Amino acid sequence: MQLLKGHEVSKAVRSQIQKDVEKYTQKVGHPPGLAVLLIGDDPASQVYVRNKEKACKEVGIRSVLHHLSENTSSNELYSLINHLNKDPSIQGILIQLPLPPHLQSEQILNWISPHKDVDGLTLENVGRLFSGRPRVVPCTPAGVMKILEHYQIPVEGKEAVVIGRSHIVGLPMFQLLQKANATVTLCHSRTPNLQAHTQKADLVVVAAGKPGLLGREDFKKDAVVIDVGIHREIVDGKTRLCGDVRSDELKDWVKAITPVPGGVGPMTITMLLFNTMELAFQQITY
Ligand code: NAD
Repeated sequence: MQLLKGHEVSKAVRSQIQKDVEKYTQKVGHPPGLAVLLIGDDPASQVYVRNKEKACKEVGIRSVLHHLSENTSSNELYSLINHLNKDPSIQGILIQLPLPPHLQSEQILNWISPHKDVDGLTLENVGRLFSGRPRVVPCTPAGVMKILEHYQIPVEGKEAVVIGRSHIVGLPMFQLLQKANATVTLCHSRTPNLQAHTQKADLVVVAAGKPGLLGREDFKKDAVVIDVGIHREIVDGKTRLCGDVRSDELKDWVKAITPVPGGVGPMTITMLLFNTMELAFQQITY
C-alpha cells in the first residue's frame, strides 16, 4: 500500500510559491497580504489559523489576523470585510469556519470580493468553478487533485466516488474529478447503501466528517483512497489524529491512501498559499 504523503507534495509546491512571492514583491513593492478572520475561541479553529499563519510566514506572505469576539455582529463583520476588500495591501481574505451560530456563513462569505476570495466560496467563484472557468479552486479539493497528479494516479475513465456534498470539499471535488474525465458518484448522508457505491470505485474521496466510517470491506481491492476527514481522538490518555477511514485495516488491500495526519491536511494549507498568490497576480494583471 502506497502512502500518498501530502507533506511531501507540499514541499515542491511551497518552494515554487516562495519564488512567486519574491517575484510579486519585487514587482509591486510589498509582499502579498492575506487577511485571516477568526471569530470566537473554537480551539480547533485557533490551531488551524496558527498553522496557516506559520505557513504564510515561511513563504513570505504577510498574514494579518483579525481575531474577533464570539458575539461580533454581522454589521461589524460587514464593515471589516468591506474595508479589507478595498485595502490595497491585502490580496486575499479568509474567514475561518465554522462561524458562531448567530452568523450566517453563506451570506457573510459572499461579502468578500470575488477577487480576494482565497477559498473560492463566493457565489461568483462557485459559479465560475462549475462553469469550467475557475478563478481559484477551493483549497482542500485543489490539494487532493495536486496529490493525484504528483503520484501520477490516473483519473480519466475511472469510477470515482465522493462521500460528502459540502460546499468546501465534496461538491467542488465532484466537479474537479468529472472535469478530469472520471465517472463520478456523489454520496451523502441520505445515500441508502453507501457500500454498494464504494465497493465499485477505483478512487474514493471520503469527506463525511465521521471518524472511522469506512474500513476494508467498503473498498474494492487496489482502490485508491483519499481520506479528507480529520478528528482528534484520545488513545491511552494521548490525543491523536484520525480520519474517516480505518486505515489500519487496509494495508494489503488498497493500492494507495492518504495518511492522517500528513495527507490532505498539509495540502489544504499549501493550496491556501497557492490561491493567495494566484489572486495576487490576477489583481495586477486584470
Ligand atoms: P460537512 O459536515 O460540511 O459535510 C459532511 C458531508 O458528509 C455532508 O454532505 C454529509 O451529507 C456527508 N455525510 C455525513 N455522514 C455521512 C455518512 N454516514 N454517509 C455518507 N455521507 C455522510 O463537512 P466538511 O466541511 O465537508 O468536512 C468533512 C471532513 O473533512 C471533516 O472531518 C473535516 O474536519 C474534514 N476536513 C479536512 C480538511 C483537511 O484539510 N484535511 C479540510 C476540510 C475539511
